[in-house]
Amino acid sequence: MKRLAALLLAGAALWGQPYDLLIQGGHVIDPASGIDGVRDVAVAGGRIARVASSIDQTQARKLIDARGLYVTPGLVDIHAHVFGYSGSLLADDTALLTGATTIVDAGGAGWRTFDEFRRTVIERSRTRVLALINIVGWGMLGPEYEDNVDDMDPAKTAEAIRKHRDVIVGVKTAHFSGTGWTAIRRAIEAGKLAGVPVMIDDKIFTNTGRTSREKLLDIMRPGDIQTHVFNDRQVEIISRFDGKVQPYALEARGRGVIFDLGHGAGSFLWPVATRAMAQGFYPDTISTDLHATSILATESDMANAISKMMLLGMSLREAIERSTVRPAQVIGRYPELGTMSEGREADIALFELRRGVFAYKDAWKKKMLGTQRLECIMSLRAGRIAFDAKGLAFPDWRTAGAYEVLP
Ligand SMILES: [Zn+2]
Repeated sequence: MKRLAALLLAGAALWGQPYDLLIQGGHVIDPASGIDGVRDVAVAGGRIARVASSIDQTQARKLIDARGLYVTPGLVDIHAHVFGYSGSLLADDTALLTGATTIVDAGGAGWRTFDEFRRTVIERSRTRVLALINIVGWGMLGPEYEDNVDDMDPAKTAEAIRKHRDVIVGVKTAHFSGTGWTAIRRAIEAGKLAGVPVMIDDKIFTNTGRTSREKLLDIMRPGDIQTHVFNDRQVEIISRFDGKVQPYALEARGRGVIFDLGHGAGSFLWPVATRAMAQGFYPDTISTDLHATSILATESDMANAISKMMLLGMSLREAIERSTVRPAQVIGRYPELGTMSEGREADIALFELRRGVFAYKDAWKKKMLGTQRLECIMSLRAGRIAFDAKGLAFPDWRTAGAYEVLP
C-alpha cells in the first residue's frame, strides 16, 4: 500500500502540483495522532499526504477553506442498518452527509444471505460498508426467523466470516425473544471460531431468564460489544433502586467488555443517559443504530449522536475519539481506519459547531434543549468529495472555467 501511495504521489508530482487537494486552516481533531489544533491537510492519490501547521498552497490543485470548521477522520459508525432489516436505509443517502465514511451493518445478513448483501449493497456503496454477520442464517428478517435457534449455526457463520473476512468484522445477535442464553452463546461460539467480536442486542426482562450481571461478567468476552448501552431493557447499567452505575458494569468495562451507544429509536433514554454520563460512564463507542424510524423520530445520525453526548458533558475531542479511533479498534480496523495519519486513505469529515438553541429527543419522546449542535459540512471518501453542504469546493459559476472539475 505504501508503494502504491508513493507511486500515486510521484504520478501527481509530474503534473507540477503534488497534492490533489489542500484543506486549509481547519481545527483538526485526530485523537489517534494526538492532534487537536489548527492544521492544513493535504490529500494526494486518495490518501492523506501530509498534515502540518502550514502547507504551501501552490502545491495543491484544489483548495478548501476550512477556517472555523473542525476537520476529523471520517467517522466510523459500528451500528447501522443497510440490509435485511425492515427499516434498512441506503448507506450513501444517510452516512456521508453526517460525516460517517465507514458504517457497520449490524446483523442484516446471515450466512445464507451474505453473498447477496455483498453484491447488492457493499460493492455498490460509496460509503465503506462493513458488517456484523447475524448468527441467524436468514439474518434480521423478523421474529419468526430471529427466534429460530435451529437457524443459529456457529460453524456456517464462521465459514461465511472467513470467506468475507475483508468486510465482516464480527457477529451480531439481536431481537431474540426466547428464554435463556442460546442465541448469545451461539453468536459467541461463532465469534470464537472466526476470531471476531460479537455485538449483543437482547432483552433482560425477568421472564427471559437473563440478567445484565450474568451477561456482562459470565457470558461476554473482552472485546464483545453491548450495544444500546443507555436502554435499560437491554442492559441495566444504572441501578433502578439508587440511580448509581452498577458495580458489575464497571467490572465488565475493566475486563474489556465494550459499551456501545447504539442510539436508535428506542434505545436512548434521558434518565439512563444523564445518570450514566454524570457518573462518568461514557459509551466506549458512539453509534447510531440508524434505520427508517430512528433517522426521523430521534434523529440518531452520527453528528446528532455526538451533539447529544456533548450536551451530557462529553467534550468534542472525546466524542471524536469515540467515533473514530475507538470504534476502529473495536472492529479490529485500526490504524487502517479511524485516523488521518499520513498514508491512510483520505476519509475525512468537516464539521461546524453551531451555536443556538437546539432540541434533542430521546426514545420516550422527551426533549432536552442544548446550545450547540455539530453539523457535517463536508465529507471525503478516499480523497474524493462526497458531500459538500456549503459548496466549499465549488467555484463561483460566473468566474470559473467551463471545465473545472471537482477533485
Ligand atoms: Zn440495530
